[in-house]
Parts: sequence; C-alpha cells; structure tokens
Amino acid sequence: MKLYEQFPISLTNSLSGKKEPFQPVNPGHVGMYVCGPTVYSDVHLGNVRTFLTFDVISRYFRHLGYKVRYVRNITDVGHLENDADEGEDKIAKKARLEQLEPMEVVKHYTEGFHEVLRQFNMLPPSIEPTATAHIVEQIEITKRLIEKGLAYEVNGSVYFDVPKYNESHDYGILSGRKIEELMESGRKLDSQDEKRNKVDFALWKKASPAHIMRWPSPWGDGFPGWHIECTVMSTKYLGETFDIHGGGMDLKFPHHECEIAQAVGANGKDPVHYWLHSNMLTVNGQKMSKSLGNSFLPRELFAGTHQLLDKGYSPMTVRFFMLQSHYSSTLDFSNEAMQSAEKGFKRLAQALTFIKKTEVPSQAVASDLTTELNRMATECYTSMSDDFNSAKVIAVLFEMSARINDIKSGNLTMDKLDATAFANFKATYIAMMEDVLGLKEETESGGSHLEGVVNVLIELRKKARTDRNYALSDKIRDDLQAIGVQLKDGKNGEMTYTID
Ligand code: AMP
Ligand code: ZN
Repeated sequence: MKLYEQFPISLTNSLSGKKEPFQPVNPGHVGMYVCGPTVYSDVHLGNVRTFLTFDVISRYFRHLGYKVRYVRNITDVGHLENDADEGEDKIAKKARLEQLEPMEVVKHYTEGFHEVLRQFNMLPPSIEPTATAHIVEQIEITKRLIEKGLAYEVNGSVYFDVPKYNESHDYGILSGRKIEELMESGRKLDSQDEKRNKVDFALWKKASPAHIMRWPSPWGDGFPGWHIECTVMSTKYLGETFDIHGGGMDLKFPHHECEIAQAVGANGKDPVHYWLHSNMLTVNGQKMSKSLGNSFLPRELFAGTHQLLDKGYSPMTVRFFMLQSHYSSTLDFSNEAMQSAEKGFKRLAQALTFIKKTEVPSQAVASDLTTELNRMATECYTSMSDDFNSAKVIAVLFEMSARINDIKSGNLTMDKLDATAFANFKATYIAMMEDVLGLKEETESGGSHLEGVVNVLIELRKKARTDRNYALSDKIRDDLQAIGVQLKDGKNGEMTYTID
C-alpha cells in the first residue's frame, strides 16, 4: 500500500472555499503549477513564504509516493507596474533605469532567486519555463480567443472581452468578485482608453517605438499581457486540465481569475481542479511588500542588518518560523517570534542529530510506549495530509523530541522500546524533518563544512575576547573579512556572519 493510500490528502480548494479530498487527474501523479517571481528585483521574505509553502507541498506529495511534475514559471516579460494593464513593463523599466539589456536584468535576478531558494533548502521545480520562451504559444491562444469572439484588437493591442465571456461563464468564480461591481468601481474609461470595458484585460500589448522588449505578431510588434503566460505554460506542460494551481493570496484577483477565463474561453474546460493560495507574511499586520517599504531581503535577515531586526537568523530558523503557522493564515514577523523559533528549531535539530545516531533495538516489547510512539508517527502523517498542516506536525515533532531527549538523558532506556515501533518513530521523525519540512542540521548547509568552520572560529574569537586578547579577536575578524566572511557583533556578545 502506498503512503498516499494510507494517508489520503485533503486540501482547501480556494475555488469552493472547502476542504476536499485530493483526487488526481492521473492516479499516482500530481501536476502542480505555481506562479513564479517577476525577475526585476530581489525576492523579499514575503515572496519566500509563498515559495516555501509550495516547496513543502510538493515535497509531501513526493514523500507519499506520488510522481510529481511541479512547474514554476519565471515572469520575464509582460508584468506591468499596474494591474490595470497600465504603466511600464517592470523588467523593461529596470533595464532602462540601470542601462542594461532586459535579459541582463532577468539573468541577474533569476540567479539571485535561485540562490535564495538554495539557502532555504528549497528543491527546484521539475520545469521552470519563462514567458519569453513561449511567445509563439501566447500569440496562438490570443488568435484563438479572437476567433471565438472573446477578444478584440484595437490599435495593435488585443484585449479579453470580460462581459462577453461572462454572458456564458462566471467571471469571478474564484475571487467572488461581481462583474457589475467591477464595472462600477474605480475610475471611468476615458477617451484614451482602448478597452471596450474597464474590466477587460490585455492579452497582447502594442510596443511603442521606444519599447525594447518586442516581438512580431499578427497585430504588429508588441509583447504579451501578464496573465496569458501562465495559461500557456501550465497547459503546455500539465495539460488542459491539471491538478493544482498555486500562488500567493494576492494573485487570486485579477491574475488567477483571468487565467481561468482565458483557459475556459480557449479550451472550453476548467483548467484546474484545486486552487491553493498561501497567505501573506506581514510586518506589524501589514503585508510585506516592496512598495510599502517594510520588506527585507533574506541576506539582510541572515546578517541582521535591517533596522527592523535585533540580530541575524539562520535560514533554517526562518524556514522553521514560517512552517510553524498554517499556510492559509497570515504570519506576522517579529523579533520575539524569531527568537523563539531559533530556540524551537535548535531543539528539534538537536533531537534529529541524536536520533540519527541511535540504533534501533532488536527486541519486541509491548508497552504503553509502543502505542505512544506509533500514535505520534501516525499523527505526523494525518496532520500533514490534513491540508498540509505543518504547524500541527511541528507540535507533534516537539512531543517526539521530548521522548528523544529522555533517551539522550538516560531517563528512557532502549530496552523499554519496541523495535518496530521505534524504527517507525525514528524513520518518521527524520522523514518529517528532512524530506517533508526540509529542515536540516544547520552546519550542513551549503553542502560544505565552511559554516561549521566559521562557527569554530566564532567560538575561538569569543574565547579570545573573554581572555581580553583583543589582538587575536581582531585578527580573526579581519582575516575572515579578507576571505569574504563578515562577522557582526550583536547584543549580549552574540556573533552572526554572512558569507559573500
Ligand atoms: P511577484 O514577484 O511580485 O509576482 O511575487 C511572487 C510571489 O510572492 C507571488 O506568489 C506573491 O503572491 C507572493 N508574495 C508577495 N508578497 C508576499 C507576502 N508579503 N507574503 C507572502 N507571499 C507574498
Ligand atoms: Zn501566474
């Protein structure tokens, strides 16, 4: 029996607002599409939360034995500054300001994004397609929507006709927005506007002579709208109907609503069985976002250099902090929460190190402990299968770590433990920590011993300071700096570091 049959998944579908049993289109397979970043700036910690949610979800599907195809795109064209199809293309603007080729901007921030994911121990998706590599398909689907009478061309741009679509379908099915209200709210169309209705959205935009990112099309030189890329890339790699589409909550409208309209309009089928939306990371209750000025970058968090931070925190502490709350709840960032996450993670990580080295006993013993060990192992799975409740799993892992610590301290001896139950308990603890939650012992990070060595030097430096040997303490700091390791002295003699 496969693990996924033993612990069937249920998940909250944003489309119905209900928890539903997961039934894949192809038995044993999962097709999942997640909207990736627009690569015009560094990803901030809020973005990290969303990608982490789907990292853990894809890890869990795999762990249960599903064959997963996880597609996460890179938006490298078409995302305008404003959701109402106005303003400059975000990447083109950055290229203009920095006097770079757009593709230089794209390469730089794509690499930065990958580096951040690596630091947080996120696994790469199966396919990472880019919008600029799918222009032909985006033109094709736009042509199809025009043929079907659901889109129209004006002055070299093409718009999706939302009221037309809404005559026979439900625009607003995902977000709950009502087209009548959308038509009334916001500013009025003015004479400059090309759109027939203000709810319409761009499938293709004409490029002005100065616009650098441009491709030939039946409507003249231009570039694709933002929403169409995700429809094209998801259906190309996962089929016209696939299992899961994910992204941050803020993408529900208009982005995902438009994706549904485009796909239903072009293919006559609902594209997605389960829509999953992860909630926002907030700071003092406000969404972390670049435009609000309350965002910080992972490297600022590791080094503790941002003004909102008391000190630096390691990537695994941050990962643990985020997984301590359910993906559908908002998560508020605070120094206090980070400090307790640091302690909590350390406790679980130390138990992990210990249990990995602990041999499974050979005897069969029937005792209350046998039932308890099995119960905890099972609860990890049932919690995770219950809408990926990582918060609940972590609570069970704490319970498990208390037992592990009993063994470590000698309060619990191995002769009291049943071989099969302990083997199950041990395998589950390790699997949940490493494979599913992706938490690893910190010194291993980066795949090298460098961080371990830096920690040894930090300890030596602390010792030198206690001994008032400031010459040695400064030498350690300066020599590390010379090889790109920056030490930062925090409060209470704590030291953190970053590696260039
Ligand atoms: P963007 O590059 O702006 O398209 O964002 C990439 C992803 O990060 C999207 O799925 C957003 O929904 C998500 N995101 C943006 N801000 C936050 C936040 N404060 N908390 C969680 N996710 C976010
Ligand atoms: Zn998307």
